[in-house]
Amino acid sequence: MTHLSADVLVVGAGGAGMYAAIAAAKQDASVLLLDKSLVGRGGATIMAQMTVAAAIGHEERDHWADHLDDTLAAGRELCDEKLARLLCENGPARIFEMDRWGAHWARGGGGRIRQVQAPGHGRARCCYVDFLNTGPGVAGTLRRQVSTMSGVRRVSNVTVTDVVVHDGRAVGAVGMDVVSGDIVTFAAKAVILAAGGLTKIFRRNSASTNMGGEAYALALRAGADLIDMEFVQFFPIAHLAPRLVGMDPIMWDPFRYKLGGRLLNGDFEEFMHRYGGQDSGKYTTVRDQASYAILKEVEAGRGSPHGGVYLDFRHVPDATLRDAFGPVIDRLATNGIDLTKTPVEVAPTAHYHMGGIRVDERMETRVPGLYAAGEAVGGANGANRLSGNAITEALVFGECAGRAAGNAAAGTPSGWSDAVGEDAAVRLRRAADTKPDDGVPANVLQLRLQDLMWEDVGSFRTGGQLRRALDGIREIRETPAAVHAADGYNLDLQDRLELDAMLTTAEAVARAALGRAESRGAHQRLDFPESDPALVRNQAVEMKGEEVAARW
Ligand SMILES: Cc1cc2nc3c(=O)[nH]c(=O)nc-3n(C[C@H](O)[C@H](O)[C@H](O)COP(=O)(O)OP(=O)(O)OC[C@H]3O[C@@H](n4cnc5c(N)ncnc54)[C@H](O)[C@@H]3O)c2cc1C
Repeated sequence: MTHLSADVLVVGAGGAGMYAAIAAAKQDASVLLLDKSLVGRGGATIMAQMTVAAAIGHEERDHWADHLDDTLAAGRELCDEKLARLLCENGPARIFEMDRWGAHWARGGGGRIRQVQAPGHGRARCCYVDFLNTGPGVAGTLRRQVSTMSGVRRVSNVTVTDVVVHDGRAVGAVGMDVVSGDIVTFAAKAVILAAGGLTKIFRRNSASTNMGGEAYALALRAGADLIDMEFVQFFPIAHLAPRLVGMDPIMWDPFRYKLGGRLLNGDFEEFMHRYGGQDSGKYTTVRDQASYAILKEVEAGRGSPHGGVYLDFRHVPDATLRDAFGPVIDRLATNGIDLTKTPVEVAPTAHYHMGGIRVDERMETRVPGLYAAGEAVGGANGANRLSGNAITEALVFGECAGRAAGNAAAGTPSGWSDAVGEDAAVRLRRAADTKPDDGVPANVLQLRLQDLMWEDVGSFRTGGQLRRALDGIREIRETPAAVHAADGYNLDLQDRLELDAMLTTAEAVARAALGRAESRGAHQRLDFPESDPALVRNQAVEMKGEEVAARW
């Protein structure tokens, strides 16, 4: 068993984790920054291709208070205002700091940072790195910055399976080296969960393979609570057809708002106005409303051939298309897509999670010493998130969590001992106790779970579907997962550990969705189609013994 120790342990090295590590190290804390993938190359941050929202006012006059107003309006009265304010007020500082660290934000005349107006934002507020390179640009900048910090030790390819809590405090974590199969324990005076979102629990998703909702399961098992778990964002216009290889399925959005791409149903009619949207030529409809409208058109038999709607750029002149799409137009051509001749088909996909770990303004959970950052945190975006707010959230909350954890660690003695480490490793040892050929492969069980979540806990839900989903989750949990013995790298075991976390997180989403008997933002109940003013409240999820339970 390998053992490492530091003042601050950061679990997950996407945008939030890397920013947290830098901020903690600035407080003179020693930091372990670990990831189940390669540091800085796993998760959503590096995949993001579009924009980062911050009221820097380079394109037109703007103020963080206006950004906050837009964020609260999109959140359908459920935003945690303190967190939303933190996001909007500190967004500009993070953009400028990243700029000093060499992020290549797209620039316009006079050296100003370019900003575009995305749906739901009242101003041109969204910064980007051309062309479709925002996420790689952000991740690359943070990776370089982390590498200049001598206090940060990077550990790749370790998957954390439990946060260790002793005497009511988070004192470290336990995990598995995915290359060697060794158990690894980590002692730390503060632990930051920055392990990203959950969209992999749905069949159709925009996620990387390591976004199975492990942060939420880790937090629940450690004694923290979650909020707003019913609010999963379904991105309205993910690519559906024709086949598109090697490109982000959600990359159409910025072009749609730059160029006024038209959304048309299967009969080639605009339809957003039927659902209260005002898309005609401007594309300002926010995500929950747009997803709803598309799915309703498909349900009414007015979908495109593959079950979505059309996104059409044929009205845009050739030269304008080439100017806006840049080299992307050539990548589309290698996929046989010529936007001057044919529209593409698009449809909603699970994309982002508004809910997550409940934290205070210092990003600390209700478990002392346990912090969270990034998409793992719930509350800032309420029932619906605005375009561009997620990377800002990762940067801002990462910085806050790292600073707070670094400060707190300075005055805290280590709570770790060998006995604590041995106890913590018991669950993992049990899972590693392999049973060849006994049961169903864990990756097959993961697929079952993804299907079930898509069918019954997707964009439209009913009480009956949600109860069926909970039964299905229980059945999968009770099905023995086959884990074949392997020397070193053991994919079966990894899948099995991930499946455990996915099931816990899936149950948290389904229970919260069942508890909210109304429709609001991204949570649409067909059996309760209206919003209920009595439910302008956040729902929490926590462990009651071994059970996942929702409470108001
Ligand atoms: C395709 C795509 C495009 C997007 N585009 C945009 C956009 O243009 N603008 C915007 O604002 N937002 C966008 N988003 C959302 C945004 O990218 C994310 O919300 C944000 O990057 C999350 O950052 P994070 O650091 O919290 O998580 P991630 O970047 O997801 O990082 C989490 C890390 O945790 C690691 N991890 C997970 N589990 C464990 C474990 N058990 N042990 C150790 N490590 C673990 C993962 O490997 C990963 O590296 C997009 C998302 C996707 C998927």
